[in-house]
Amino acid sequence: MYRHRRGYIHAGLLAVTAFLVSATLVCGCGTPGKVPPSVSVKPGPLVTRKATKTSLKLPRVKIRPNKWKYVVVHHSATQAGSAAAFDEFHRNKKGWNRGLGYHFVIGNGNGARNGLVETGHRWTGQIDGAHAGSKEYNQHGIGVCLVGDFEGGSPTTKQISSLVSLVTELQQLCNIPPENVILHRHIRDTQCPGDGFSYYELLANLPR
Ligand SMILES: [Zn+2]
Repeated sequence: MYRHRRGYIHAGLLAVTAFLVSATLVCGCGTPGKVPPSVSVKPGPLVTRKATKTSLKLPRVKIRPNKWKYVVVHHSATQAGSAAAFDEFHRNKKGWNRGLGYHFVIGNGNGARNGLVETGHRWTGQIDGAHAGSKEYNQHGIGVCLVGDFEGGSPTTKQISSLVSLVTELQQLCNIPPENVILHRHIRDTQCPGDGFSYYELLANLPR
């Protein structure tokens, strides 16, 4: 979702920039996502819950070669939801005839089971997302939405474990380097996925 930025640049910008630079140097592969200078890369709280590996049972999909370069994380900015609910919203309220704009949705227990990873038809069909508000990131970014409003709230521990397991698997399947695992607010003038989402926590749990 899009929401107007509050017009400040957080001190965490420096920390994240330093992290991304060091991650690039360590990995030495891929191109980091372009971050427009006007966009906040606020990292969110210094939360570091340890994610437990969860069994995802993703459907087997023939991955389009060189199609996916990024993972872009969102929140739904709603208290409840599911892939079916967002599909209905995107199809009927937004008028997107391809429906659900995300590739994956991770439930929070309100509308879908807490930590459940639902696979959207844009992933099984290997087609562009409609989540980033940017052509590059819709074409080449895998959109993952966590159900919940993390402006004021934060993801559940099960959601983080599922997110880490999902992102790890997508990185391996599509050869996506960790510096290309980004938040919506890194590429667009939005708070998404909210101040309560910890970028540190996600990065700290991804394999290096
Ligand atoms: Zn978003």
